[in-house]
Amino acid sequence: MERIDGRAFDELRPIKIEAGVLKRADGSCYIEWGKNKVYAAVYGPKEVLPRHLERNDRAILRCRYNMAPFSVEDRKRPGPDRRAVEIGKVMSGALEPAILLHHYPRSMIEISVEVVQANAGTRCAGLTAVSVALADAGIPMRDIVPSCAAGKVEGQIVLDLAKEEDNEGEADVPVAIIPRLNQITLLQMDGKLSEKEVEDTVNLAIKGCNEVYKLQVDALKRKYEGAEYE
Ligand code: ADP
Repeated sequence: MERIDGRAFDELRPIKIEAGVLKRADGSCYIEWGKNKVYAAVYGPKEVLPRHLERNDRAILRCRYNMAPFSVEDRKRPGPDRRAVEIGKVMSGALEPAILLHHYPRSMIEISVEVVQANAGTRCAGLTAVSVALADAGIPMRDIVPSCAAGKVEGQIVLDLAKEEDNEGEADVPVAIIPRLNQITLLQMDGKLSEKEVEDTVNLAIKGCNEVYKLQVDALKRKYEGAEYE
């Protein structure tokens, strides 16, 4: 089967990652993943607001996902919606086990994901950018968290669905992993798959995550090799 953009079934879209792109954030990252363009910014650890969310034994993570009105073909209504709240939640769930939150009791790490151009897979692109931004902010982590989806299009299991494939596809399964802990921290499924297909799809997504991981490490290396120390 030929894919719409000519990719092999197990081929990622082109990915470019740049760490430390925003001066005002404590850590940041910009990612281009196919036609997706996403910024991630990290602030903190800082004071917890609202106060009642404060935890005595650890930092809390707040993750905000936003899609710009001009990020999609038909202008998106600005402001948060159910989808954005859901994605913020699953992203923070995917990251929490990787971050040494107990190092920062009574504080908060604030994460913003801004999607400026969307073409399917923005939660994976966002998550991938966030862990680079967290590392850029110097937040101690057990490992960085790569994310990638796989799914089913015209009866075939394929890696990293682009928007056109997502529209026609039978299923989309975004995954995030913590490689060093051998742990899956995000697994969602939209669509219908048999048990065997679920297994194949998740395994293919994990393979994609491992490729993405290398690009994250490269981006961080580039940032620190090029850094000017004052
Ligand atoms: P993800 O971006 O993580 O794949 P979804 O599966 O919910 O999340 O969305 C798939 C794609 O659909 C998005 O990447 C985007 O291109 C498009 N999309 C999402 N929400 C909207 C919206 N409100 N208006 C237009 N397109 C949207």
